[in-house]
Amino acid sequence: MSEQSPNESSSAATAASLTELPAVARNIHLMCKKCGVERYHVVVAHTTATSAKVECEVCKAKSTFKLAKKSATGSAAPKKRATKRNEPDFAAIWNDLKTQIGVEQVKPYNMKMKFALANAIEHPKFGVGFVTSATNEKIEVVFQEGGRALVHNRP
Ligand SMILES: [Zn+2]
Repeated sequence: MSEQSPNESSSAATAASLTELPAVARNIHLMCKKCGVERYHVVVAHTTATSAKVECEVCKAKSTFKLAKKSATGSAAPKKRATKRNEPDFAAIWNDLKTQIGVEQVKPYNMKMKFALANAIEHPKFGVGFVTSATNEKIEVVFQEGGRALVHNRP
């Protein structure tokens, strides 16, 4: 007993997937107790924030549609900023690299230049950094505030 056309079903909301009430006058596919099958129901009115009065399109029986309650309770407060526990201590790494590499031969960063492992560079925004990895296109640089991938060797 499926007499609905594909066009009708695509325009109606599916009750299970709803997180908020469908707008008044919209269709929603629900079980009709009187018809004994799922029917399109027109939303007649919102009765509360989570329930609406709906009317079966076929038998015109009125019923109440309720949104499924969310089970997540108790965690209403927004999460505070995550502690940076898993993040490496870039300031300490930077200090180690500064000791190993030194800043006597720091080169101004420019994407057209080619840098190599253990170069000291000076970036206009991030300051002095040390190259910890270098390919033909990219360098990984540790700055005091964190690691960054930069392009280099651009013609
Ligand atoms: Zn009905």
